[in-house]
Amino acid sequence: MAKTTSKPIATSKPSKLAKKPVAKEVAPAMADAVKSEEVTEEKVMAKVAPKAKSEGADDKAEITIEKKLIALYSLQQVDSQVDKIRIIRGELPLEVQDLEDEIAGLETRVDNHIQETLVMEKSIAEKKTSVKDALALIKKYEDQQMNVRNNREYDSLTKEIEYQNLEIQLSEKRAKEFQISLDLKKEEIGSYQKLLLDRKNDLEIKRSELDDIIAETEKEESDLIKNSENNKQFIEDRLLTAYTRIRKNARNGLAVVQIERDACGGCFNKIPPQHQLDIRMHKKIIVCEYCGRILVDDGIVNAMH
Ligand SMILES: [Zn+2]
Repeated sequence: MAKTTSKPIATSKPSKLAKKPVAKEVAPAMADAVKSEEVTEEKVMAKVAPKAKSEGADDKAEITIEKKLIALYSLQQVDSQVDKIRIIRGELPLEVQDLEDEIAGLETRVDNHIQETLVMEKSIAEKKTSVKDALALIKKYEDQQMNVRNNREYDSLTKEIEYQNLEIQLSEKRAKEFQISLDLKKEEIGSYQKLLLDRKNDLEIKRSELDDIIAETEKEESDLIKNSENNKQFIEDRLLTAYTRIRKNARNGLAVVQIERDACGGCFNKIPPQHQLDIRMHKKIIVCEYCGRILVDDGIVNAMH
């Protein structure tokens, strides 16, 4: 990327009365404050459309650069405080969400397992009934054997009894298998329920931590956000867009910084004396040539307090 020099962000909205080429020239400078070519103050003034003739045609255009700088700096202070609150809150909201999801998943799994155990218990009961039925049949056949008229009838009943005995063995085998699966399933359910209990305890702790932090900071945060919105009405949309973009790209969330010991308060690179002079003039909005942050001097900082 090409090294950039003094980059004023357009300082006021072009009037609706302005000729088209003017608006076109100003827009890219606003759209990309960081990459704009060197523009002298005179050029900026020439490019920016003259003030609208009708009163109140564009209220924001009437606001002086100094006021805009103060509003931008105030906005930055407020937004930085909101950042600080969110850092304190940190990962807690996400952790709570994750735990809630995990608990919901575990509960579904336990429910499904319980449904499966019900089916198994029903199967075991069915096999036990089969055994009882077979025993009853055997008893009946044995009684009938007492009254048979010939050997053929006797043998046929003996075969029936053998068959029912096999049925009993098979049913008992099946019932035993179902019982083993059922015991395993119940063990599994037990371990899931224990895990569920642990997770629910974790959730309760995290939630109360989060609730405490929210209770402590909610009012402060909503006041700050209201304050932030208040400041925004003094700043035109394109400048706000630039502010938001710079802030998003900056690791510390700083889009507006003070000159500190002749250096940019954001990236700590030295600012040439001529730039410092320009910044003090409050005639245009100047960004750091290294990091693209909007620069303000002590005058703006003190005017805010
Ligand atoms: Zn910088």
